Amino acid sequence: MKKIKTGKPYVIAGPCSAESEEQVLSIAHSLKETNVDVFRAGIWKPRTRPGNFEGIGEKGLSWLKRVKDETGLETAVEVANPKHVELALKNDVDVLWIGSRTTVSPFTVQEIANACNGIENRILIKNPINPDLSLWMGAIERFSGQNIKKLGAIHRGFSSYEKIKYRNAPIWEIPLGLRREFPDLPIIFDPSHVAGDRNLVFDLSRTALSLNFDGLIIETHNNPDKAWSDAKQQVLPEVLLAMLDHLLYREGEL
Ligand code: PEP
Ligand code: MN
Repeated sequence: MKKIKTGKPYVIAGPCSAESEEQVLSIAHSLKETNVDVFRAGIWKPRTRPGNFEGIGEKGLSWLKRVKDETGLETAVEVANPKHVELALKNDVDVLWIGSRTTVSPFTVQEIANACNGIENRILIKNPINPDLSLWMGAIERFSGQNIKKLGAIHRGFSSYEKIKYRNAPIWEIPLGLRREFPDLPIIFDPSHVAGDRNLVFDLSRTALSLNFDGLIIETHNNPDKAWSDAKQQVLPEVLLAMLDHLLYREGEL
């Protein structure tokens, strides 16, 4: 499996959820011509409990197409079933990610992997919500078994019944164990879902880079407090860009 990129960490940024065409385009335009490589926005959102916003759905794909055309950024969405894969591919989405609530389910992962057979798009597999390295490895193997060349993992932390500082415990040994098992697999760190709090995102990102993670995926919103999902952990685009400036170019001085 090939490394994603050399030279600098791969950076994915954008809102937890696509909410409106204006919101998506406004955030994307503030991230163009920066260190951001890929624009993320969830349009299908598997939520732990019903009654929360479950995503804008298919119409968000045309918004992402506009992002690509107007900013040149690649785009990324979560796919949770084969239909999502079909629609995302039809609408030119570059990067597909598998969410942590999907990675726990082997039959679903296999169905999605089958729908991705041989595609050139990058596919990123989030760790399962529970701290289980084998389940994460199993999901990765189901995709590599379908001739996916551009495969990577995302470490988004692990849920814990105990009250802890973070929304999801980082348990760094698990992603480091994944790296030992699959030394060539790029692993991206998701400080937003580990932190659950925007004030913790910078320090977590710095720790991840010091552990040689290959990239970052950071939730970024133009009005974070009013976000329809994950409001507490999203950062403003200008905050993201200042963080990246420190993390990517001046880490030694901090
Ligand atoms: C997300 O990326 O917005 C998300 C829901 O992630 P996770 O699957 O890690 O909870
Ligand atoms: Mn989110």
